[in-house]
Amino acid sequence: MKIRPIFLICFAVTSLYASDPTALLHDPQVKAAFAAIEHNEPEMISEQIRVCEIAAPPFMEQQRGLELKRLFDGLKLHDVHIDKAGNVIGSRPGAAPHPNVVIAAHLDTVFPEGTAVKVTRNGNILRGPGIGDDCRGLAVLLGMIHALNETQIKTIGTITFVADVGEEGLGDLRGMKELFGDMKGQIDDFISVDGLGTGITNIGVGSYRYKVIFNGLGGHSYGAFGMANPIQAMGRAIAKIDAFEVPTEPKTTFNVGRVGGGTSVNAIPFEAWMEVDMRSADVKSLEALHAKFKAAMNDAVTEENARWNGRGPVKVSLELVGLRPAGNTPESSAIVQTAEAVSKSLSLPVHLGEGSTDSNVPMNLGIPAITIGGGGKGSGAHSLNETYDTTDSWKGTERALLLALSLAQ
Ligand SMILES: [Zn+2]
Repeated sequence: MKIRPIFLICFAVTSLYASDPTALLHDPQVKAAFAAIEHNEPEMISEQIRVCEIAAPPFMEQQRGLELKRLFDGLKLHDVHIDKAGNVIGSRPGAAPHPNVVIAAHLDTVFPEGTAVKVTRNGNILRGPGIGDDCRGLAVLLGMIHALNETQIKTIGTITFVADVGEEGLGDLRGMKELFGDMKGQIDDFISVDGLGTGITNIGVGSYRYKVIFNGLGGHSYGAFGMANPIQAMGRAIAKIDAFEVPTEPKTTFNVGRVGGGTSVNAIPFEAWMEVDMRSADVKSLEALHAKFKAAMNDAVTEENARWNGRGPVKVSLELVGLRPAGNTPESSAIVQTAEAVSKSLSLPVHLGEGSTDSNVPMNLGIPAITIGGGGKGSGAHSLNETYDTTDSWKGTERALLLALSLAQ
């Protein structure tokens, strides 16, 4: 996580819920909401465990989603529904539909079907796959809604809660792509609560992921010698990728992560394949790398076919297996400035960072978006030994609530 300097800003107080978080902290209803958050935290931790014990493998978030829908309904959110992608959405209307502040946490985990999802508890330490990433985010959403209900805080704008699908890996942010396709123009600010800690992510690292397949006729290594070879064409392609020059700032990267193909040491293969990952926090750098990559794949095949005078020509096909758009929300934006001021007003550390999260999608669309941690500490995200330490975890919910209230002015 990059550490950036802290910026302070003064807000003009224009309404009951002006975006000055420090002023909001003196509001009796906000104080009451904070007291409710602390009081309710043990119950929210129990919910975090219970929800986490409902398996949510990639593309199989339905069961956990249905439970969130049941909870949203029980908490009297408005218009609770599940969209086409599987996102669970419910809103808490203010005096006006705008600003509409969307606060989301993801339902899915990286763990395949059949993974044991039992959570064990030893004092403050919870252990189980997904307990922090992102069952913590879901618990923060629930804690916020409970506190808002108990104190009946009225906001000018609307706060919309989303438990979304497809954040991890090959889920490819499909929940966000659906949400921002469907609710385009209706979302003014977006906050993702993802994992633990107190970080603020305002730079969205984008990526392209490809499976590249080289096909040829194949044949006997001795008898059919003289024809183009898919693995050798792929070798040329990998050498070209390896020679790419990319900027270090903004950090832009490439990787050939897996290769396969061929049938025997004494056969010219009919197929070879590789998986390639390219990333950058900068849209232009990522697009430039992407264009170079596609040209290099064609050049490699052209060279291989020319080398063998066009005998048994090799063809290449590119299968896009992952696309996460890049984007960023500037440090000077109201949402980042507010998030920093909120953290500071609660005496929490302020640090901005980069990551690949649900916020990538709105960031790419130019919609103010950040991802924040859900409080508490922990380790081992994406591992079976993931832990979550609940010490002072309620601070994460307080910060999320104060941020949402500051923005929904
Ligand atoms: Zn996550």
